[in-house]
Amino acid sequence: MASGVRLVVLGKQGAGKGTQCVRLSHHYAVPHVSTGDMLRAEAKSRTPFGLRARAVMDRGELISDDLVMELVATRLNEEDTKGRGFVLDGCPRTTAQAEALEELLLPDRLDMVIDLEVPTHQVLRRLASRRVCVDCGANYSTSTPPLVNWTCDVCGGEVIQRVDDTEEAIKRRLDLYERQTAPLIDWYKSRDLLRVINGTGSADIVTRRTIRAIELERTRRGAGALDDQ
Ligand code: AMP
Repeated sequence: MASGVRLVVLGKQGAGKGTQCVRLSHHYAVPHVSTGDMLRAEAKSRTPFGLRARAVMDRGELISDDLVMELVATRLNEEDTKGRGFVLDGCPRTTAQAEALEELLLPDRLDMVIDLEVPTHQVLRRLASRRVCVDCGANYSTSTPPLVNWTCDVCGGEVIQRVDDTEEAIKRRLDLYERQTAPLIDWYKSRDLLRVINGTGSADIVTRRTIRAIELERTRRGAGALDDQ
């Protein structure tokens, strides 16, 4: 197993980011840091911040940059992520967040930013059939349900359709992605950090493509450069 990497994974909602991030975090033995999961956990704990966050998320809008980056800074300053690295999922979503992340990581920097590319008509189909576990966030779909009665195979939690996976909220999130997150692709390209991965096909194929791209990059930059983390 390879180890130690600092990765960001970009992609439209429904591009398979969550699934691929979990697989990459296992492969590289680093934590999977998902801002969506962290915010859903806050919402579930019903703190004043969590309740406000839930209302914003249910509408398919974005939480403010400052609040999200505060959560991310706290998580990335913990020992495991500082020492070994991370797979960051759902952040950055705006250029302001990308700038804040760059500063947060200094004197280090990201190893690579993966853009999972899937055509919009395909993500719409995937989102309509997506189902998730309310407790651990494991992903299912109407065509690959849990083994028993919409009960999560991993933790036994209830498997449901996300409140923000309604047609209207999906449209708003995809629109926001085009306006606020898609410009990050050029931002990271200009820093020679971006690798575009074809996100169509089975999850296994996409994982293999992604790991191959990461390993090619390791080779391109010189043997073991990313292993020194
Ligand atoms: P996700 O699970 O990544 O689709 O995130 C679910 C929701 O959480 C998003 O629609 C936003 O409302 C919020 N969210 C997650 N990550 C961020 C972020 N980096 N910046 C702002 N809002 C976020």
